[in-house]
Amino acid sequence: MNRRKIYEGKAKILYEGPEPGTLIQHFKDDATANNNEKMQIFDGKGVLNNKISENIFLKLGKIGIPTHFIRKLNMREQLIKEVDIIPIEVVVRNIVAGSLSKRLGIIEGEPLPRSLIEFYYKNDKLGDPMVSDEHITAFGWASPQEIEEIMNLSLRINDFLSGLFSGINIKLVDFKIEFGRLYENDAFRIILADEISPDSCRLWDTTTNDKLDKDLFRNDSGDLLEAYNEVARRMGIISKKNKTENTGPVLIKG
Ligand code: UDP
Repeated sequence: MNRRKIYEGKAKILYEGPEPGTLIQHFKDDATANNNEKMQIFDGKGVLNNKISENIFLKLGKIGIPTHFIRKLNMREQLIKEVDIIPIEVVVRNIVAGSLSKRLGIIEGEPLPRSLIEFYYKNDKLGDPMVSDEHITAFGWASPQEIEEIMNLSLRINDFLSGLFSGINIKLVDFKIEFGRLYENDAFRIILADEISPDSCRLWDTTTNDKLDKDLFRNDSGDLLEAYNEVARRMGIISKKNKTENTGPVLIKG
């Protein structure tokens, strides 16, 4: 198809949308870790993340979180509103893991006394350094009002998703989200953009603490596709038998 590519990232491609102010977000099968040091293709990951992210964004929309999601177009693509991305990765944490564990020397799995919000400046060359709200306002990446709105929305999203996952026996350990600015009705609004999927969340089985997220790839510690399928099954997005992996041709008996 002859579409203009606007941007290609590690796990997604953005194409020009059918109408002004829209884009097409395409989910790839590629997984990367350690700022691109590690890369692997997982057949069907993009299809699963498209479904999982669609489901979550629709639910967040229903509780009044403004999002960029318009509708799913096909297995790998969704139509989204074009926004001016704020160059900050917002990480919300409920349980110590990953970089927080390394940075402060706290063992993984320690519940936090309260949810923490951290900001990282989106810049691959610099390895996405952690920044404070002071840096964000001083360098003009977002205004103090926008940061306040981002923090409020992030905590609401965390509360809602923690409950949603807890209902399917999953702990929401932490996750990364991104926001954009949208000009609507003569004003700029902060809206949730990007994706929410097991690529961008840490999800642990509540009973066993088994990992159901991208850490399986980061640490070579298990079957990523099986885990993403399990998350989708528990969310009720795919049926028990239905896997999106390529299982080869099926013989249809006459
Ligand atoms: N995360 C992400 N993209 C990034 C960095 C982090 O989606 O570029 C997610 C990650 O999956 C985890 C959370 O943000 O759910 C916190 O990640 P952390 O800071 O612990 O970094 P990591 O250990 O993944 O390098």
